[in-house]
Amino acid sequence: MEGAALSAPNIWDTTARVSQKMQLIVEIEITCPHCGEVFPLQIDTSESEQSLIEDCSVCCRPINLTIRCQPGTVDSLIAHS
Ligand SMILES: [Zn+2]
Repeated sequence: MEGAALSAPNIWDTTARVSQKMQLIVEIEITCPHCGEVFPLQIDTSESEQSLIEDCSVCCRPINLTIRCQPGTVDSLIAHS
């Protein structure tokens, strides 16, 4: 039959969920135990517990960091020399 109305296609909007992807990289400020300087550091919160060594951006000495986090947030951070 000519002119039969085509049923409108159902378009499901799935973009909303995708755009709410969790931000796992969090920027925090740490205090250098050597010189006392505060500088920003980016933490990957996808790991719940991690320890890493980061060189101070001011005095260049290594800082031992123990970090506990949940996806998207840093729960606690310990910086020691
Ligand atoms: Zn320092």
